[in-house]
Amino acid sequence: MRGIIGHDAIARQLERAAERGRLAPAYLFAGPPGVGKTTLALALAQTALCTAPHDARPCGACRACRQIERRNHPDLMLIEAGRSLGEQDATPTRARVIPIERIRVARQAAALSPLEGQARFFLLRNAEDMRPEAADALLKTLEEPPPRSHFLLTVLDPSLLAPTLVSRCQRLALRPVPLPEVAAALRAHAALPPEEVDRLAHLAQGRVGWALQAATSERFRTQYEAMRERLIGLCHAGDHDRLAYATELAERYERDRRALDEPLRVWATWWRDVLLAGLGRDDGSVHIDLGALARAVALQLTPPAVSRYLWRIAEAARLIAGDVRGHVAPDGLFVDAARVAPGAAALWPTGSVNARLALEVLFLGAPRPARVA
Ligand SMILES: [Zn+2]
Repeated sequence: MRGIIGHDAIARQLERAAERGRLAPAYLFAGPPGVGKTTLALALAQTALCTAPHDARPCGACRACRQIERRNHPDLMLIEAGRSLGEQDATPTRARVIPIERIRVARQAAALSPLEGQARFFLLRNAEDMRPEAADALLKTLEEPPPRSHFLLTVLDPSLLAPTLVSRCQRLALRPVPLPEVAAALRAHAALPPEEVDRLAHLAQGRVGWALQAATSERFRTQYEAMRERLIGLCHAGDHDRLAYATELAERYERDRRALDEPLRVWATWWRDVLLAGLGRDDGSVHIDLGALARAVALQLTPPAVSRYLWRIAEAARLIAGDVRGHVAPDGLFVDAARVAPGAAALWPTGSVNARLALEVLFLGAPRPARVA
């Protein structure tokens, strides 16, 4: 498949199925953000809808290929939280969930014949953003899949979806792409000095999409660096700053479910770097430009203390990831309850307050090494 970096076995498997006209009714692309789930799903739609001869598909040049690249092919419907392609308001909104209406529209369209090509595709990004009723509606369609309609779901982790839904999909686990391949992609797509290629390839942790975005967008890189600097600076910050940061992150999370992905990843990888430095194993570090700082911090802490804290980061991430699934009441209720009576927050088992509490505990409980010159 064109433009796919890594994931060779999965790409070949999908290519063969498309060639033989034997695509499954639903595929579940699972993996971290930026690893290539959407790219692979779109390449599959291109392979199936491309009008070039079989062995040249997807050609990337025909009308169908170009329409899919721009995500406006009549037989491709994109469904995601707060955004839906083919509508005028294709801008991200504050919505955190995939509205059930979108699933209903997709179900109706799936029952119809393709408009231009041989098949219809429904790309459901971040399927974990569906509430149970939307997932149930989708499940009904997948229980009696309409011929020539294919659902392509992307998800962070299949455990965030109902097992009944997962069982109806062919699962494709996208592993992080090996570092040399990420570095090669960076060299091919951006003119960066070798040390910057190396640094970004390490920070990417196998997410090619992330690496390419970081390499080609200065704005993305600036925002990322500011976030990373502030986060790592929390190491030496007092309660006030730590709490302020937790509150700020929780508020961003209320508006955008993806807002915590990158900060939590940076926080976890930073502390893992500190642990590796403490064990004298920093050849596996992610923040290779901050090695000296990691070693200085590691000198003040014991490896068991750092690994206990890493465990707490994982726990907080798990708790927050489970947030949407347990969502039963409007977010406002939780938020208001917390403002009126902060102590009462613990009584609410789900919702944004849960994320806020998890973040407060996480940052206040972080190790406190002294600042080093
Ligand atoms: Zn084509």
